[in-house]
Amino acid sequence: MYNSGKYDPRKIFDIDEFLREPGYFYDFARDFIGKLENIKPTFTHCFFSELEKSGKLKGLITQNIDALHQMAGSLKVVELHGSFWTSRCMACAREYSYSQMLPKILSSEVPRCGCGVVIKPDIVFYGEGVKRLGEAVKLACESDLFIIIGSSLEVYPAAALPDSAFGKIAIVNKGPVNIKQERVSLNVSDDLDDFFRAVADELKLVC
Ligand SMILES: [Zn+2]
Repeated sequence: MYNSGKYDPRKIFDIDEFLREPGYFYDFARDFIGKLENIKPTFTHCFFSELEKSGKLKGLITQNIDALHQMAGSLKVVELHGSFWTSRCMACAREYSYSQMLPKILSSEVPRCGCGVVIKPDIVFYGEGVKRLGEAVKLACESDLFIIIGSSLEVYPAAALPDSAFGKIAIVNKGPVNIKQERVSLNVSDDLDDFFRAVADELKLVC
């Protein structure tokens, strides 16, 4: 989606650009959200939501900004790069939910808070630090099974999280993953939905 050529990702997510001209970001956001409205959580998203409800999953760590895990019903989601799920005023820090922002993004040029200042989604822009890294590291430390799903682990600091995992590590990913193979107990190169459908059957989990 970022590679459509219409928008320059370095510019969309550059905090200095946003402060200077938030309209460029919101033009992109209008297109992105238009597409996002047509994207549904996959079986894998739903599987992890059900796994959490069954008490077997302590939490999810993601670099995605699409909030599909929350849409699937997951509660404990640590989004290292934030997402559109929440936004806040850059002056008074008033929080706006995705459903509050949706009509603002779709209808107005640049969404503004009641106080008049621009609202910014809680997405990590270039030039900003990742969010909730401490929580992510704590989850990794406490896990007895840490599953790497659909990631090649190329981007730091997320790529370093398996180093904090105390228990076993499993990978479900098509393609190579940047990790020491001796740390990996199970390495599955399969379609995510096909694999987790089989796991759901095994666990008798209805997703
Ligand atoms: Zn405000």
